Amino acid sequence: MSAPQDYPALWLHDVRRSYKQGDGALDILCGAELALWPGESVALIAPSGAGKSTLLHVAGLLEKPDSGEVYMGGEPTAAMEDAQRTTLRRHEIGFVYQFHHLLPEFTALENIMMPQMIGGLTRAAAKKRAEDLLAYLGLAKRMGHRPAELSGGEQQRVAIARAVANSPRVLLADEPTGNLDPKTADHVFNALSLIVRATGLAALVATHNLELAGRMDRRVTLRDGLIVELP
Ligand code: ADP
Repeated sequence: MSAPQDYPALWLHDVRRSYKQGDGALDILCGAELALWPGESVALIAPSGAGKSTLLHVAGLLEKPDSGEVYMGGEPTAAMEDAQRTTLRRHEIGFVYQFHHLLPEFTALENIMMPQMIGGLTRAAAKKRAEDLLAYLGLAKRMGHRPAELSGGEQQRVAIARAVANSPRVLLADEPTGNLDPKTADHVFNALSLIVRATGLAALVATHNLELAGRMDRRVTLRDGLIVELP
């Protein structure tokens, strides 16, 4: 059998997705093709309405494509039952959104422990990894803070730590710095890059921030439902 790194972390192959619109159909993805390799960060830059969220939802196994295949570490997912997709999503995919979506009544540490315990880790093991991740992202002194007691940039860094808590293969981010001032956005982006490099996961980051996109390995856009490489 081939070693896992012989496969892309994520491969969207001939992915099609359309939405009903009145009597017709709105074709959003029309044979999209995208491979993300371990350790690679790819920026997805496209105007509003082009289909970025749809692509991220399909890549994140939250939505099924109408046709085509989504391979996660070489494994096809289209024919999987929902429960199997949920398990795979929980273990293999981390999500970061524009707004942090941390649980307000829990501390930073607890927010990162939670997905690990749901994933089956003991409390002690989850705590250790959460502490390590927060320290790694420069938040050692903020572990006991609730989200409301953190700055916007700190909240996003905690959200990144939570997204990678289960050591996913793929990190999907939808405008992760969209809500931040330029300097804070820079800090959060550096945290994200640090994690990608340290863990070897593959990251797909939808962003309008061209400066940050320029610092990723590759840039792609969506044009007429297809993924097109940008210079
Ligand atoms: P983006 O994230 O690039 O702004 P989206 O993927 O959210 O784009 O949406 C692409 C297009 O598909 C938009 O025109 C949107 O209105 C439409 N769309 C998205 N989700 C649905 C849905 N569930 N039902 C119908 N149309 C949708």
